[in-house]
Amino acid sequence: MPALEIVQIPVLNDNYVYLAHCAETGETAVVDPAVAGPVLDEVSKRGWTLTHILNTHHHGDHVGGNEEIIAATGCTVTGSADDAPRIPGIQVQVREGDTVTLGNHTARVFDVPGHTRAHIAYWFEDSDALFCGDTLFSLGCGRLFEGTPQQMWTSLGKLRALPDSTRIYCAHEYTQANADFAITVEPDNPALNARYDQIIALREAGKPTVPSTMGEEKQANPFLRADQTVLLEAAGLSGADPVAAFADIRQRKDNF
Ligand code: ZN
Ligand code: FE
Repeated sequence: MPALEIVQIPVLNDNYVYLAHCAETGETAVVDPAVAGPVLDEVSKRGWTLTHILNTHHHGDHVGGNEEIIAATGCTVTGSADDAPRIPGIQVQVREGDTVTLGNHTARVFDVPGHTRAHIAYWFEDSDALFCGDTLFSLGCGRLFEGTPQQMWTSLGKLRALPDSTRIYCAHEYTQANADFAITVEPDNPALNARYDQIIALREAGKPTVPSTMGEEKQANPFLRADQTVLLEAAGLSGADPVAAFADIRQRKDNF
């Protein structure tokens, strides 16, 4: 079975909206449509028909296009059962352990609170694709607007357990700023330094740095490494427990 075809649509300042298309059935999802216009244009340019909106969380730059897309296409909206009142047009309420079917493909749903009190991620194992909204970014993670460090660390741990080949389709191009911060935490990490150079080159060429893979993130993203001795030593946090270390690093980033 061919993998889902995934299209990245840059919108607003630094958001990424994604199309996921099952070529065999024609079913097409849009993940976190911040706005409707560019999504509908891309879909019609490809001759596709939108059947699903998949939302990760309630922020406006993730659900802002829902109503207009529903009006234009009649597609169904899937979102977190624990945040249904804040997801415009929600029809299918899901939480961890549920699956979402898109044509011949199936996503597992994870509850990944921390950025917001209810936030979900969609993992299409057959296509090696993770749609994680604002939970995990390349070299970063979402700000803790409504959750605790303990919640976010647990959420990131669920994602870190996915295969190294998993591509991280996060919702923002924040990588360069995240890299500038990450090297202050772990300046001698060779994987991070290599990734840093690659990011500078990609951005100078006007290219996206997303998606990265889980394998790359595990080696270089400080927010996935708060239980690694080498990071704790580099960050001056030797002996700290992972949640305390994560909280400390997250706070440094907030003030960076
Ligand atoms: Zn958000
Ligand atoms: Fe966002």
